[in-house]
Amino acid sequence: MEIIRSISGMREFSGDCLQSNKSIGFVPTMGALHDGHLSIVRQSTGANDITVVSIFINPTQFSEGEDFNCYPRDYDGDIRKLDGLYGGKIAAVFMPEANDIYPDGYKTYVEVRGLSEKLCGMFRPGHFTGVATVVLKLFNAVNPTRAYFGLKDYQQCAVLKKMRDDLNLDCEIVLCPTVREADGLAMSSRNAYLSMEQRLDAPCIYKALKDTGHAIKNGSLKIKDIAAKLHETLSAVKSITEIQYASAYDPDTLDEITRGVRVLIAVAVKMGTTRLIDNILVEL
Ligand code: AMP
Repeated sequence: MEIIRSISGMREFSGDCLQSNKSIGFVPTMGALHDGHLSIVRQSTGANDITVVSIFINPTQFSEGEDFNCYPRDYDGDIRKLDGLYGGKIAAVFMPEANDIYPDGYKTYVEVRGLSEKLCGMFRPGHFTGVATVVLKLFNAVNPTRAYFGLKDYQQCAVLKKMRDDLNLDCEIVLCPTVREADGLAMSSRNAYLSMEQRLDAPCIYKALKDTGHAIKNGSLKIKDIAAKLHETLSAVKSITEIQYASAYDPDTLDEITRGVRVLIAVAVKMGTTRLIDNILVEL
């Protein structure tokens, strides 16, 4: 497994792979790898000749006052986890330097209008512009045949698929199911911030999503009443200090809906300074 630290080194490596007709699966991450990341990597190694995992904590997707400086970093531990995993099909870990991705005078950003401003975008202005920009830059370095993203970050998936279509990118985008702890909490690098009490309360988020999902499926709850039900449930949880959004959304446009046959139920809450998101997609 090679560790590649520059864009030019990455382009050379992927150029060689593509010349020998090898498909490249790509898994972009910010590191502090957990089983959610590793399940995506496994999906990639199962479908591609080689897999590249990137680890880059992208400064442009953090707003002022967010956790960029204290975001969990464990580069050596991450490399140990990946080395030799899944039959050695992880060919490279791409760990670019911030000043290689954003050199002095950097001015170009990708804005996916319409989808970026909703849900998380309302509370994290500029976040998805940072995400789309870095993913496009990583794509240009890695030249992936397929790129893999987790549905835990549903809006990110929607934004990146739109970018792919609008910019005619020649890369398949594969969406992977959310991996959860045994008690239902969606795995996230940020779970490490939770206090013991917050961690004990945190599974309530997935439980609330599941309960509302079941209730609209069995007809005991109407889609128009999902938001009220979620707010009632979540506001009763001691560790939840803010509900940023909790409602039913159109899975394609991310607009809030009161009826439909495909319903994205999505939640963002804060437990103290830690922000947690989760979602489920319900087909009626
Ligand atoms: P991050 O390192 O948080 O930027 O995540 C890197 C990739 O892993 C993104 O595509 C995330 O959506 C995905 N991911 C993070 N947590 C999970 C999870 N619990 N289940 C599935 N995918 C995840």
